Amino acid sequence: MAFTFGILTISDSCSSGEKEDHSGPALCALVKEFYPQSKILLLDCIPDDYEAIKAKLIEWCDVKKCNVVLTTGGTGFAPRDVTPEATRDVLDKLAPAVTQHINHMSMQVTPMAMLSRAVCGVRKQTLILNLPGSKKASVECFGFVGKTLKHAVELMLDRKAEVVKAHQIVQGTIVGDDTEKSKVKLGCVALRNRKSPYPMVSVEEAQEIMSDCDNMYRFEPEQCIVKIEDSLGRTLATTVRSNVPLPPFPASTKDGYAVIAADGPGIRKVVEVIAAGDLPAQFTLKSGEIIRISTGAPLPNGADAVVQVEDTELVKASDDNMKELEVKINVSPSVGLDIRPIGSDIPVDEDILHQGTIITPAHIGIMAAVGITEIDVYVRRSVGIISSGNELQRLGCGQLQSGKIFDSNKLTLLSLLEQHNFKGYDCGIARDDPDDIKQKISAALAKHDTLITTGGVSMGEFDLIKQVLVQDFNASIHFGRVDMKPGKPTTFATCEFKGKWKCVFALPGNPVSASVTFLLFVLPFLRRYNVLQEGRQMIDLILDKDVNLDVRPEYMRVKISSDKNGRKLAQFATANQISSRLNSLAEADALLVLPSKSAVCSKLLKGAIVKAIPLRNREFYVKY
Ligand code: AMP
Ligand code: MG
Repeated sequence: MAFTFGILTISDSCSSGEKEDHSGPALCALVKEFYPQSKILLLDCIPDDYEAIKAKLIEWCDVKKCNVVLTTGGTGFAPRDVTPEATRDVLDKLAPAVTQHINHMSMQVTPMAMLSRAVCGVRKQTLILNLPGSKKASVECFGFVGKTLKHAVELMLDRKAEVVKAHQIVQGTIVGDDTEKSKVKLGCVALRNRKSPYPMVSVEEAQEIMSDCDNMYRFEPEQCIVKIEDSLGRTLATTVRSNVPLPPFPASTKDGYAVIAADGPGIRKVVEVIAAGDLPAQFTLKSGEIIRISTGAPLPNGADAVVQVEDTELVKASDDNMKELEVKINVSPSVGLDIRPIGSDIPVDEDILHQGTIITPAHIGIMAAVGITEIDVYVRRSVGIISSGNELQRLGCGQLQSGKIFDSNKLTLLSLLEQHNFKGYDCGIARDDPDDIKQKISAALAKHDTLITTGGVSMGEFDLIKQVLVQDFNASIHFGRVDMKPGKPTTFATCEFKGKWKCVFALPGNPVSASVTFLLFVLPFLRRYNVLQEGRQMIDLILDKDVNLDVRPEYMRVKISSDKNGRKLAQFATANQISSRLNSLAEADALLVLPSKSAVCSKLLKGAIVKAIPLRNREFYVKY
């Protein structure tokens, strides 16, 4: 359905020309992205004046009959902020849940959101929504509710057929528009957005947004029980407690003699032998006696120290030398010497592995040691992968045709998933055609809970992934631009598909960008609970030359070498770092995290210490 929109900026400084209005045009661009068939009927900028706002709203609702009026500005606590008051006074019906939802979502971004007094409601056949004044906040807030406005307008206009259909889609009784063509229409290239309407977020903000979404949309993966031997790399769903203490009995840590410490040095009678695996001796050691004992064997009653064989001398043996009868202790042992008390390694009923732990071989050993045979782990998300681009040719389908390149992202991402213990599924190559993209995404979401797409998310006229997600899948784009190089257009979206929440990572097509953004965003998200920790698993590297900084924070591929003092150096590849050059990643040992350049700092000097994300497994670094 085509809507008509009015976008009203309310600001003294913008209406007087003192400041440029950025929010109104940004909202126009976003409305176009959400509802390309809609018309922006009216765009105006007026001062923070109660009567002027009221008059304008009444005119746009009653005379111009806009379906939706968005206001931006005047919702705060400044003396001149009166947009909510003027709006409330023209509304017939209030719709407080719309602004509650916006506030709830915005509060995840900043607690400042609690200071918004915005209102929303209906006047006659127009929905009026107040948005904050800043460009970033207004765009962000519209993003939270933009897709739902369609249904609100259909209800408001009493469009019964559309309302019933929307309800059926939500209830899962019909399959949305699966078989229909995409709502995204190509053409009118001259009218496309020339600037991305999505606010730029930092890598850290993006990671936090993903974390919040994970909690908010309850992508709580199901749990399953696995044998510990099958648990390598899985994420623990419940905390594991020890069933038995380790060691389960006081054990000798040496091959030697169990003694009474107070006896001190001197000649002792060897009364018994206890080997590892023997039952603890039934009798109690008396003064002047010792027992020959081996490493790991249980200590007899009465003994309170072990003296290693190296600190003793044989005094008397049996005639056949098969028995030691008397041994001289050469040291004064302290109580507890070379004994591991019960539970000294792991006490019983102790939390030994916490929920969220990614199981390593050592963890499996610990669990085995305390008698745990099975654990609860999260069911691994199944991840579908779609490559997009008319230029892509599937590997193995004949000789490379002219104008084509082989789809390398698919196999790289499938392998990255496998390397990190997740299962990826090839969901095909989508042409740069909205119908094909829609059909491929539908098919992938029907089978998988997480989808990765590559390509088609930048500003090109055939970069259609975001539009298809928003228009055909009612997706919320949680971020659509990240301040990083490579990987700026990285997009994270969620949508409800056939009654289930799905998440979509739309990664840039350049092979290096796709891999780097997979490592920074997709992998931590899939690993769950580790989104933020992941970022902290960094190492320090020393620059081996001066480095010019970019306007964006840059993730630069470097090799690691060491200087003569064993300190780790970042060595820059001699070849270039453009994001299409996959070799630069293949040759790299780490991604150096360079800050963006600022007025005071445009380069980092040789010798500076910089954080880096290791690309190879930890064992590799032990060598350095
Ligand atoms: P896009 O993100 O669609 O603008 O693509 C950016 C660049 O990445 C273009 O040069 C594409 O040809 C290339 N590219 C996109 N997808 C793939 C892929 N699956 N495998 C290899 N290169 C790709
Ligand atoms: Mg493309």
